[in-house]
Amino acid sequence: MPIRVLSPDVAARIAAGEVVERPASVVKELVENALDAGASRVSVEITGGGLELIRVTDDGSGIEPEDLATAFQRHATSKLSDDSDLMRVQTLGFRGEALPSIAAVADVELISRPPHSEGALRLSLENGVPGDVEEKGAAIGTSVTARKLFGRLPARRKFLRTPGSEASACAAAVTHYALAFPGVRFSMTVDGRQSFATPGSGDLRDAAASVYGLDVAAELIPVRRSECEIAVQGLIGPPHLTRSNRSYISLFVNRRWIQNRRLTFAVEEAYQGMLMIGRHPIAVLNITLPPEEVDVNVHPTKAEVRFRDESAVFREVQRAVREALVAQSPVPAGVAPSADLGLSAQPWTPPLWERGVRSAVPAAVAAPFAPQVGGPTPAQALPVLRVIGQFGNIYIITEGPEGMYLIDQHAAHERVLYERFCTARAGHKPDAQGLLDPVTVDVPPRLLALVGEQEEALAEHGFALEHFGENSLLVRGLPAALSRGDVRENVSRFLDVLSSEEEGDRRDRVAMSLACHGAIRAGKQLNTEEMRDLVLQLEATESPNTCPHGRPTIVHMSADALARGFGRR
Ligand code: ADP
Ligand code: MG
Repeated sequence: MPIRVLSPDVAARIAAGEVVERPASVVKELVENALDAGASRVSVEITGGGLELIRVTDDGSGIEPEDLATAFQRHATSKLSDDSDLMRVQTLGFRGEALPSIAAVADVELISRPPHSEGALRLSLENGVPGDVEEKGAAIGTSVTARKLFGRLPARRKFLRTPGSEASACAAAVTHYALAFPGVRFSMTVDGRQSFATPGSGDLRDAAASVYGLDVAAELIPVRRSECEIAVQGLIGPPHLTRSNRSYISLFVNRRWIQNRRLTFAVEEAYQGMLMIGRHPIAVLNITLPPEEVDVNVHPTKAEVRFRDESAVFREVQRAVREALVAQSPVPAGVAPSADLGLSAQPWTPPLWERGVRSAVPAAVAAPFAPQVGGPTPAQALPVLRVIGQFGNIYIITEGPEGMYLIDQHAAHERVLYERFCTARAGHKPDAQGLLDPVTVDVPPRLLALVGEQEEALAEHGFALEHFGENSLLVRGLPAALSRGDVRENVSRFLDVLSSEEEGDRRDRVAMSLACHGAIRAGKQLNTEEMRDLVLQLEATESPNTCPHGRPTIVHMSADALARGFGRR
């Protein structure tokens, strides 16, 4: 399609605003143009944090000689022709604003050669004013160079960060597109040094390896859900592979990188109870939906989009991630290399010694590898485990189909209790104990404030508390888990634990604290019966592999790895 200036009424409907805020915005716009031109190779070069030079070169369709100058006019685009196109945008760009906006704040040089042309043409603009078009030898495709960004606008430079962090922002923009387009070969050079390159193999895991490293990429779990017209595809990290911020959650809508807090939350929610508090997962997810279901024309840099039915998108993302997590059994490895991690997918017949234990286990748990028919199934089934003994009064040693499994008794019990409290809460049936003689408990003001904040959540879990005097609480009822022994002592200790739970949903904080408070301590000696009981209860939980804070409950040492360790292989 030729490049045309949009009619004033279409132009007027385009979300207006600043397109170029910082060097990374230029990088993003130029990379989007390269991708829209169907490039199979995109290379990005920056120096001085992008303020000295930004160059993006592609091998795409190029610009026809007669369109060169038009490309720099405002609202000139080859991607939209009329109003109705704006409802069904299929390209990354559509506003015809990037090139003129960049030319307004930098000196620009564009060299382009469409595939059928003999040679390339070069057009330079200074101060937004185009010079003469010259012939030049160049490969097929387009290269756009922006120099001295904001050179004429010292005030704008003041709002920028150090060249180092502007360079990181540029690299982040390129990595996002490298992840969204694994079939395109990307390379990025910062101050003459290559910072990363993707192979363009079309496999997302290869692109992820270039961006996050081989080790991380090898552990990522595939996500693939297409139950309705909203499809979700990509890779996510297992629960133990976390980061301290959310910047490793990359979301794309029809391969456009977007920022959306609700969808980020949908991803995190799918991990509920599996992540350590304050930690965030890795995810690279592309959401595909019909273009008319999403409005990309709401934000000047197109980083935000609006969905016709956001709840449906939220639901599909959350389910897709949850399903992927459920589909794999991430028992963390001890000495076992990660290749040994995958539990056998073949049905495993438990030996005779398991028969007694098995009789008490719900069917779905007892035969985790058998085909599962209907009904709720545990999220990540544990294999059937035989208790061997206790180590250090902390760990339960067990044997399973794939080797040895060590279970952290406190973490495991926390998981069991946590799920029990959550279920009781959800059914509005907390296991509570009323006190015939209410008890007063002295509580420091800090904890009293906390009780105020968590009032509702505490009630949902069976607490009946009243303020009593300045620094005390009247306890009329409490969760049964806290009713044995010294109530005063139990309530104070519980509140202490609650105050140390830093994050998480409010109600979860109460459930987690109750679980932590009630769980068997590390250091307590257990007899075989108690250990068996705990293992069975853990097997029946929905997420047996982690405690509510996301720490592992179980560590696996595969028979293979042990054999290797002992030189038997
Ligand atoms: P938009 O991408 O919104 O159309 P731009 O200002 O970014 O607007 O680009 C204007 C036009 O210039 C595009 O519509 C496209 O036709 C052409 N163009 C820009 N960059 C390239 C490129 N790398 N390869 C081919 N054509 C390009
Ligand atoms: Mg563009």
